[in-house]
Amino acid sequence: MPAVKDYYQVLGVPEKAGEPDIKKAYRRLAKQYHPDANPGDNAASERFKEISEAYSVLSDAEKRKQYDTMRRFGAFGGGGFSPRGGAGAGQVRVEDFDFGGLGGLGGLGDLFSSIFGRGRKAAAPEPIEVVVEIPFRVAALGGKVPVTVGVTEACPTCGGSGAAPGAKVNACQECKGRGTVTFGQGGFAVQRPCPACRGRGKVASESCGKCAGQGEVSVDKRLMVTVPPGTDSGQKARLKGQGQRNADSGAPGDLLVTFQVQPDRFFRREGLDLHCTVPVNVAQAALGTKLKVSTIEGRKVVLKIPAGTQPGRKFRIKGQGIEKNKRRGDQFVEIAVTIPGKLSAEQEAKLKEFADEVGLKY
Ligand SMILES: [Zn+2]
Ligand SMILES: [Zn+2]
Repeated sequence: MPAVKDYYQVLGVPEKAGEPDIKKAYRRLAKQYHPDANPGDNAASERFKEISEAYSVLSDAEKRKQYDTMRRFGAFGGGGFSPRGGAGAGQVRVEDFDFGGLGGLGGLGDLFSSIFGRGRKAAAPEPIEVVVEIPFRVAALGGKVPVTVGVTEACPTCGGSGAAPGAKVNACQECKGRGTVTFGQGGFAVQRPCPACRGRGKVASESCGKCAGQGEVSVDKRLMVTVPPGTDSGQKARLKGQGQRNADSGAPGDLLVTFQVQPDRFFRREGLDLHCTVPVNVAQAALGTKLKVSTIEGRKVVLKIPAGTQPGRKFRIKGQGIEKNKRRGDQFVEIAVTIPGKLSAEQEAKLKEFADEVGLKY
């Protein structure tokens, strides 16, 4: 748990102390507790570290200003309000603060977060983001698509302890079983989960074979993701708790899916409207015909093509577009005219005869 000391108390100076007084106090205490003057005295060495830390903050105008701001909001027991929970004298338990509640105080929550590396809000893991390609028709009509995401989960063999079955479990040497280690950051003492025991405070005499003592294993998680009707490329879906769990807290993270719609051989989408192109031959275009056109739902609709229809002409089939939010677009059918390929000598003569008769030049 992150803890910040009262640096004024550490140096034994009043809050209003000027730079010279701070310097004087530091010099006196540093001399008194210097490891050279106290060989083998751990308490003195700890105290010396504390004094150096306090001085590094209070002697730096910028750091002191930040630190004072925190003090003013009661973080160290001497200010406007007391932290919830029982913080020791001269210490504050940062987790007792609700950073969210400080949102209105000019971004003080951000200040805390930046100083302590991470606030309690950060305990919720970042979502995993994946891009999922979906078939055109599934996007248009809605449906489900399979998604595979790589996540780490608690090891099923050791249940996350990292210990082999039946192994002896001892206190971690690195953190003396506390599960956290302290280090300086920006002049402040910050506690982090111990890397040696991964914050457990314990180490096993024999590691779990399944996870090599990590307590977690990588797995491919398969999910069926619901695609809402009328989904467009770039549209996102958030799947609560389906992402990566937080290794420390076990809190499940979210999965953020971005849909990418695959093109279709037949349909193109414009807003809620669907466009398609249907070829007819010269005779159909010239004489008129009835076409069977597929809708997005796979039904066939009969479309009447009048005589003398030109290439590129568009016909509308009402209400056969994409439906979204209770609105439905139309389907537009563009006519393409195919021209006969290689003609026999006889066919060519007949076509020329026809052309001459209706006055077409060639
Ligand atoms: Zn394991
Ligand atoms: Zn440890």
